[in-house]
This record gives sequence, C-alpha cells and structure tokens, in this order.
Amino acid sequence: MPIRQLPARLANQIAAGEVVERPSSVVKELVENSIDAGATELIIDIEQGGARRIRIRDNGQGIAHDELELALSRHATSKISSLDDLESIMSLGFRGEALASISSVSRLTLTSKPAVQSEAWQAYCEGREMTVSIQPAAHPDGTTVDVQDLFFNTPARRKFLRTEKTEFGHIDEVVKRIALGAPEVRIQLRHNQRKVRDYRPAITEPQQIQRLKAVAGNTFAGDALHIVNQVDPWQLQGWIAPAAVCRHQGDVQYMFVNGRMMKDKLLNHAIRQAYGDLLPADRQPTFVLYLTLPARDVDVNVHPSKHEVRFHQARQIHDFVLQTIRQALPQADSLEGAPTEG
Ligand code: ADP
Ligand code: MG
Repeated sequence: MPIRQLPARLANQIAAGEVVERPSSVVKELVENSIDAGATELIIDIEQGGARRIRIRDNGQGIAHDELELALSRHATSKISSLDDLESIMSLGFRGEALASISSVSRLTLTSKPAVQSEAWQAYCEGREMTVSIQPAAHPDGTTVDVQDLFFNTPARRKFLRTEKTEFGHIDEVVKRIALGAPEVRIQLRHNQRKVRDYRPAITEPQQIQRLKAVAGNTFAGDALHIVNQVDPWQLQGWIAPAAVCRHQGDVQYMFVNGRMMKDKLLNHAIRQAYGDLLPADRQPTFVLYLTLPARDVDVNVHPSKHEVRFHQARQIHDFVLQTIRQALPQADSLEGAPTEG
C-alpha cells in the first residue's frame, strides 16, 4: 500500500485507544478538565455503567462560543503554548487529546457558558464526523459534557465493556481519587438517576477528615497517623496507617503529586521501605499522601495516562518520602526499648 495521511477521524480513533480504555477513563478526563477550569461543583450522571451515558456538569470558567469547535479538535489546548510551559505544568491536562478522542468514539454534546458571555452554546458531534454543529442552548455559567453511546462506532471496543456493575465500580474508584485529589470541590455522583455519592467540600481539617472517611473508610480514618513534613521546596503531608492495621488488600493507596494521582514505582518503593520489617510481606502499606514540589522538579509528560512521572532528583525525593514516613511510624524497637513508666 502507498503511504497515506490518515483521515482525521481515524487518527482520533487510534489515539482514543490510548486515552479511552473504558467509561471510567472518560470520567477521569472530563472531571480533570472541570477541575482545570476551576470548578467548585461537579455533578456526574452515569447511565448503565457509562456505556449508555456519562454526563458531567461543572461551574467552571466555561468555553467561549468561538472556541467550542476547537476544543473538540486534536492537539487543541488552552493549557500550554510552549516547551517552557510543558516543563512546568500545574494543570491536570495538557495534551489536548481527550475531547477529540472521546468525541471520535461516542455521540458527544458540549454545552458551555463562560460568565462573560450572555448566552450558552452547544456543539454536537457524532463519532466526530468532521462537521460539528453549533447551536444556542440554555445553561448556567460552566460546562456540561454529555457522552452517549460510548464505542458505538468501534464494536471491537464495545465488546470489551464488562457488566454495568463492574464498569460503574471503576467509575466510582476514579471519582474517589478525584475526591481526595481536589478536596475543596463538591462532587455528586449518580448512577441510573440514583444518588450514589455526595462529597461535600472539604476545606477545614474536620471536613477533610470527613472526606477521608467517606473515601477511604472509617477504619483507615480512625487509625491513620497524620503527617506533615517540609524540606523546602518539597512538602509531604497526608495520612498513613500504622503497620499493625495494614491489611492484605492494597485498596487504600493514594499518592498525589501536585494534585495528580500517581501509581509511581519509586514512591511506592520508598513507602514500602519506610515500613521495613514492621509490615509482614503479605500486608499492604495503606496511605493517602500528597507530595508537593515545584512543577519544574517533575516531568509529567511520560505516559498518556499521566500515572507515571519522572523526578529530576529521584534519589533525593525517594529518601525524603522514606524518611518522612519512617519518622512518623511507631518503630517496633523504639516501643520495646522504651522505658516503662512506674
Ligand atoms: P487538555 O485538557 O489536554 O487541554 P482536552 O481535549 O481535554 O485537552 O480539552 C481541550 C480544551 O477544552 C482544554 O484545554 C480547555 O480549554 C477546554 N475545556 C475542556 N473541558 C472544559 C471544561 N469542563 N471547562 C472549561 N474548558 C474546558
Ligand atoms: Mg483534558
């Protein structure tokens, strides 16, 4: 076959393979966009595990009428404009891929109203036919993205969807991560019109504990040790369970780097090592931790899912996390060796 440029839609569908694995990936991308837009309230409506519908409404800054179509095209982003920006990213998104990818494999409606614009507008595209139709709409300040019939035009993908319950379980987990990562945002999650979660804004410390309980469970919130450590310009804070109450399942392992949820080998290694012999091999470290560092110290442009990062001073970050947690955990020998009262 001769070499040909792929049609835009096909190129987007190929890219969608990387970004949109299942309904929960759509939820993740859309919610990240809402948070990047400064939303303080999110309403997430799911139907049939997300296969039928995923609709997210936010009260963020909105998208201007004349940018709606652009927002849906590939490599279109308001978040970076230069290599310099790429090297110091604070937003969750930056690839300009999500809306283009999602719209190429669903029936997508994007409705938005920036506060400065007097009326709302709506863009609709079906499987991202190259024509996007734009019409006036009714909508308060903010944005709603309504994704219907995910993978309707990519049957091979649709076949891989699991049961409604399983897919919704993945969505619930994604929403939990966001609820911990953006504690000041109110998040409601509904499934088939039923309210499933309602995370209230967590600004004060008691509210934060409340949210920690709602997401990670009462047991963890009750047992966990609160840690804060700062070695300028790095900060690690959050909650960690003492070894004695760590369980077999690693279901409460949340690590955020500059607000972004990570599954990072280096950090996991540091945490595991901090527990050392305190933790039997069949138990899992249990934690909700927030690492904050200058954007320039970390490269998030490693993988499309953005679950991995690269630290410029990997060794020092590893040791900072290790030391902070080790100091926070009660050490077996210091307990045994401690002089007894009386
Ligand atoms: P990225 O997030 O990487 O920039 P996306 O494809 O997810 O790429 O979004 C493209 C652009 O559309 C964003 O850069 C942003 O300007 C705009 N956008 C998307 N969702 C929202 C939203 N909920 N509120 C405001 N703007 C949005
Ligand atoms: Mg995005």
